[in-house]
Amino acid sequence: MSISSIPAMPRMTTLDYQAFDTLFATSDNIGATADGGLNRLTASQEDKAMRDAFCAWLTEHDFDVRIDAIGNIFGLMTLQEGAPWVLCGSHLDTQPLGGRFDGVYGVTAAASTIAALVRQLQDLPQQSKYNLAVVNWTNEEGARFQPSLIGSSVFTGAVELDTALNCLDANGITLGEALEEIGYRGDALFPLPVANYLELHVEQGPHLETQQKQIGVVTGTWAALKWQVTFHGEQNHTGPSLMQVRRDALLAAAQTIVAVREAAGQHPDVLHTSVGRLETTPNSPNVVTREATVFIEFRSADEALLHQLHESFSQKMQSIAQSTATEVDLSRYQFRPCRQLDTALTQKALNQAEKIGLSAMPLRSVAGHDAISLSYHCPSSLIFVPSTGGVSHNEREFTATADLHRGLDFLIAMLCELCFPAGFRSESGEAA
Ligand SMILES: [Zn+2]
Repeated sequence: MSISSIPAMPRMTTLDYQAFDTLFATSDNIGATADGGLNRLTASQEDKAMRDAFCAWLTEHDFDVRIDAIGNIFGLMTLQEGAPWVLCGSHLDTQPLGGRFDGVYGVTAAASTIAALVRQLQDLPQQSKYNLAVVNWTNEEGARFQPSLIGSSVFTGAVELDTALNCLDANGITLGEALEEIGYRGDALFPLPVANYLELHVEQGPHLETQQKQIGVVTGTWAALKWQVTFHGEQNHTGPSLMQVRRDALLAAAQTIVAVREAAGQHPDVLHTSVGRLETTPNSPNVVTREATVFIEFRSADEALLHQLHESFSQKMQSIAQSTATEVDLSRYQFRPCRQLDTALTQKALNQAEKIGLSAMPLRSVAGHDAISLSYHCPSSLIFVPSTGGVSHNEREFTATADLHRGLDFLIAMLCELCFPAGFRSESGEAA
């Protein structure tokens, strides 16, 4: 066959990039903050507005839209009746005062890329091995409701639906009630047979930028120990009550926060620690704190170190409780082990990037992502594009449009590789 009769593999066109830019810009305006970020907590009115806009976009582009019982939104595009699905997505919720790219990029990129691919297939129909779907997972961030990754974990069965629906926000509202309120609590779970899951995401770290690479293929993640520790003291007047009888829960929390930071100093580079949230009751300037909850995170690639810290910090916080005459509840924690992503799919992704002329590198993710949940369910791939300055969970989070577009180029190539493993065929049936 002559070279000219070989059909070009589908790729993103100028119009496709524009369609993506427009969809992405829709998100910029929903829950926008004064300083250029987003504030779109799970199941808030802003989340509802974004979900509505996203579902409308999907319907307009001929996706079949489904909402499951935990509020995950699926946009289905059937290419091959009865075949399993390649699922692509991420999340549309954000941290409070969060960035515009985290999660949003993965969802909008997946939707735009699938739409572009399907449109091009209309001109040159192919026998696809799989169907294609985009997904928006509920509560990836774990900001309003804990734990994080709820939607994807319920989908894979790692978390029970009832447990997830009963998670409480800081005001005692359950996730189930909040989803009901915004009209996104579906009737049932949606058992989609998934062959592969792909997630594009901004890196949220500095490595691609410093190494001057365009694409990062995640090989695995760090482990995490997330711990909600509550100190119980005694409420009292901050003036007349005698210092020696005070049982100040906030004092115990403060000592814990300092100790958590010091632990990172004892294990430089291999351990990241934080207390990012503190809840106190009754939270009044002239009342000794009755109850204080610290939200602790320890992250490391070394699981043994995290187990050891769990042990040593249990003892440490018991002794802080003793010295502050408080009581401590250590029972609420979640251990997320290190996770290796599918080696064959990782290799395929690295090859694919190279094939279309993008510079790529393998790397590890410190943060958790829905792709990690999905990796227990099917071969999954997590792909990063650069983050300027590595800044994330911040209104200043930024990725250049050219980098976003390169991610789309990668994704469409990857979808073609998975759906048409024998190559793209011309009308005469010859493979490209
Ligand atoms: Zn994210």
